[in-house]
Amino acid sequence: MSERVIPLIDQRLKARAAVVPTTPIAATGLLGDALGRPLRDLRISVTDRCNFRCSYCMPKSIFDKDYPYLPHSALLSFEEITRIARQFVAHGVQKIRLTGGEPLLRKNIEILIEQLAALRTTEGRPLDITLTTNGSLLERKARDLKAAGLRRVTVSLDGLDDAVFRAMNDVDFPVADVLRGIEAAREAGLGPVKINMVVKRGTNEHEILPMARHFKGTGAVLRFIEYMDVGATNGWRMDEVMPSAEVVRHIHQELPLVQLEPSAPGETAERWGYADGSGEIGVISSVTQAFCRDCNRARLSTEGKLYLCLFATQGHDLKPLVRGGASDAELASAIAAIWQGRDDRYSELRASMPPDQSTGGRRIEMSYIGG
Ligand code: SAM
Ligand code: SF4
Ligand code: SF4
Repeated sequence: MSERVIPLIDQRLKARAAVVPTTPIAATGLLGDALGRPLRDLRISVTDRCNFRCSYCMPKSIFDKDYPYLPHSALLSFEEITRIARQFVAHGVQKIRLTGGEPLLRKNIEILIEQLAALRTTEGRPLDITLTTNGSLLERKARDLKAAGLRRVTVSLDGLDDAVFRAMNDVDFPVADVLRGIEAAREAGLGPVKINMVVKRGTNEHEILPMARHFKGTGAVLRFIEYMDVGATNGWRMDEVMPSAEVVRHIHQELPLVQLEPSAPGETAERWGYADGSGEIGVISSVTQAFCRDCNRARLSTEGKLYLCLFATQGHDLKPLVRGGASDAELASAIAAIWQGRDDRYSELRASMPPDQSTGGRRIEMSYIGG
């Protein structure tokens, strides 16, 4: 029998246990990393499972029925997640995004949202709580999510053509159901809904204009994402990346665009408005234009490992502290020490990196730490 190699297994296991520094670091809301970047945005993966098999994220050949997903006992409980999130908020986090895997597959996710919605920023304001979903369960859940305290949702949708979308999600899931989910989110008050479209050259670039036409004037903000070299299983190739500049040019030819100011520091998307005032689109150029300089995002995996970059090869395991009796102050100190040591800027370095020095096949999967 031929041996099946799953490179990410080692990556998940490879994490340093977080340690409490001998000199405590008080939470002042003003924590900076080694490059002076503040900590503002926490992305929490609530499950490593998904009901889709998008080829750029969880290809079927690897994520099959024998794939060793995390056992339930390894997952952080909602109380543990909220406790960790509270320390991040004390260090300055203002925005929390729930992700996965498919976050709506996590049972009773509304309870977690309620707990997170009760947290307050260091200025005493509620957090901006959002969620990224493939939309498959959104029609059913939108109202409850809103009632629990969710502010907005981002829905991933890679095309309007049913055959193209069914092939990209690779589980034959129809476009119409996602569109109904988007509508339900809007009706529930989870807007403005952002729509994420990963553009893969040779697969769905012909869907760019139909998507732009469809969402123009609806209040939804369509964002085109460059296909990224995350993980180690999607067989990423540079020639399948369609640079955002090309996407903008393509849309501009038919639907004139003007560039808009960024809405917030550290914003990943470059904003463009329709010249006729009927709304805006965004482009996320993680491959062709690095935005590490302002990157204020931390990522917490489903099992409590902290990643300082989407392309990190190693996490910092907070679970031993959380389950080992550390106090809140100790946990906060440990998180502070990790963030203070952060000098990650993978996208900036990628362009100048010789292939043999790139992290190549050793990166963590997007479905594990979330987008
Ligand atoms: N399952 C949810 C979803 O699809 O929205 C949340 C998790 S998913 C990992 C988060 C985002 O990452 C999605 O918008 C997805 O399209 C994007 N994504 C996944 N793999 C990607 C890749 N290789 N390049 C660019 N974006 C990717
Ligand atoms: Fe699932 Fe989202 Fe990854 Fe697609 S992008 S496989 S929906 S986690
Ligand atoms: Fe942030 Fe890493 Fe992406 Fe740079 S490559 S923007 S540091 S997540």
